[in-house]
Amino acid sequence: MAGTAGRDAAGRAFSIPMRTRFRGVRSREGLLVRGPRGWGEFSPFAEYGPTECARWWAACREAADEGWPEPVRRSVPVNVTVPAVGPEEAERIVAAGGCRTAKVKVAERGQDPSEDLERVEAVRGALGPSGRVRVDANGGWDADTAVRMLRALDRFDLEYAEQPCPTLEELAQVRRRTDVPVAADESIRKAEDPMRVRAAGAADIVVLKVQPLGGVRPALRVAEACGLPAVVSSAVETSVGIAAGVALAAALPELPYACGLATVQLLTADVCADPMLPVDGELPVRRPEVDPGLLEAVETAPEGWRDRMAAARAAAG
Ligand SMILES: [Mg+2]
Repeated sequence: MAGTAGRDAAGRAFSIPMRTRFRGVRSREGLLVRGPRGWGEFSPFAEYGPTECARWWAACREAADEGWPEPVRRSVPVNVTVPAVGPEEAERIVAAGGCRTAKVKVAERGQDPSEDLERVEAVRGALGPSGRVRVDANGGWDADTAVRMLRALDRFDLEYAEQPCPTLEELAQVRRRTDVPVAADESIRKAEDPMRVRAAGAADIVVLKVQPLGGVRPALRVAEACGLPAVVSSAVETSVGIAAGVALAAALPELPYACGLATVQLLTADVCADPMLPVDGELPVRRPEVDPGLLEAVETAPEGWRDRMAAARAAAG
């Protein structure tokens, strides 16, 4: 009787292997919690402490307890993500993705710059001239390298470069020295950051993620306060977490760029029978149901995750 419902409310832990290593992670783990409004996802990365996790927890509770603001659109354009793979694999991923925009990972540690050029060239070839190609360096370049690489890569006509360098000063420098627009991603981890990004002249675009910003509503407030075009991206969640990202993208007054929410395909499994996968380059605005059998198939012991949740809750006060 209290069985499943009680367990769902206390949180169900999951571990899902990734198709390709991502942020040094081979599997995506977290806790799914069911509340009166549906399922929420709490999946901070392993290195995050309680203070940072408090915002991820707030996002989970918003989904489970409050639900999300009314959408202003029915679907959200999304990009396919191309990891730091070889050119043939990159082409295959773009062709299979069915999106008109691709985000290509560059500046991977241990790789040669020529590998970035070959990968981006392959992606441009696969999308054709009307497609949009953006790159994401995850802060992997210094300013001089970023300027050199972006000038070279821009022969494939870049839409923008996401976090080419780690610091705001370097981002501002790259903006001054190249014609490629700069998007700030890692520089935006909390509500105060976007305003600093803007004040530093460090970005043309901000990347917003629901869990790190503490929920859909806080992220909407950040977008409004910083006044720059926003792209919504995922933290590579299951379809439960992706639905929150879609809710944010659906509620933004303006959405000029495709969003980085087509990431369920980076996982080898999902918890929803009708996962949040793009159709013709768009994700419909909806909230998928968790499938009990699929959740059980990826379920792990919840104790460690419930401890992280309790610590996050304590940090939130
Ligand atoms: Mg990024």
